[in-house]
Amino acid sequence: MVAEKGTISINTENIFPIIKKFLYSDHEIFLRELVSNAVDATQKIKKLSSLGQYEGELGDTKIKVSVDKDAKTITISDKGIGMTADEIKKYINQIAYSGAKEFVEKYNSETDKSQIIGQFGLGFYSAFMVAKEVEIFTKSYQDAPAAKWRSDGSTEYEISDWDKAERGTDIVLHVSEDNEEFLEESKLEQI
Ligand code: ADP
Repeated sequence: MVAEKGTISINTENIFPIIKKFLYSDHEIFLRELVSNAVDATQKIKKLSSLGQYEGELGDTKIKVSVDKDAKTITISDKGIGMTADEIKKYINQIAYSGAKEFVEKYNSETDKSQIIGQFGLGFYSAFMVAKEVEIFTKSYQDAPAAKWRSDGSTEYEISDWDKAERGTDIVLHVSEDNEEFLEESKLEQI
């Protein structure tokens, strides 16, 4: 056979388990990432309000982390800018990392995983470190219907209109069996 050279192609589908297993080995990252997204979204609505580009009431912009032990869920709620269905498709469904090659190079040369997570816009997906299913319920500050998104951590997702009156986002984590320690309030408080 004639010698042949080529590049092995990596797509999101097969890099997803790698991301989950190695990058997120420090399980406690998820809460920091999701709360920091909630903080960003809250700062954005405050900014728009101060610029006069959002004229509605800001209301109580406190971020809440709550646990439902029976339902085995952790919910991170904010009253930030929220997302329209189109924004979910753009910001959540499309992972921003600019190629697997770069990802792997970064991964091999650096030890600070949180930096990589930030750089490649993978923060939201850290939810799957502890959750077998994640739902997003969100209503944008813009005049658009609220939306629901759900995924079981595969590359499949579902998105639909939803009935949510208040501006902002609820991220609901359906905690997997082997992560039930995170349903303890004391554990979450400690993180
Ligand atoms: P990064 O925060 O690094 O951009 P993430 O994966 O954490 O990457 O989030 C992707 C994008 O999804 C964010 O940039 C933001 O546009 C949107 N997003 C995530 N969480 C929220 C939220 N709670 N409210 C509004 N938008 C959000």
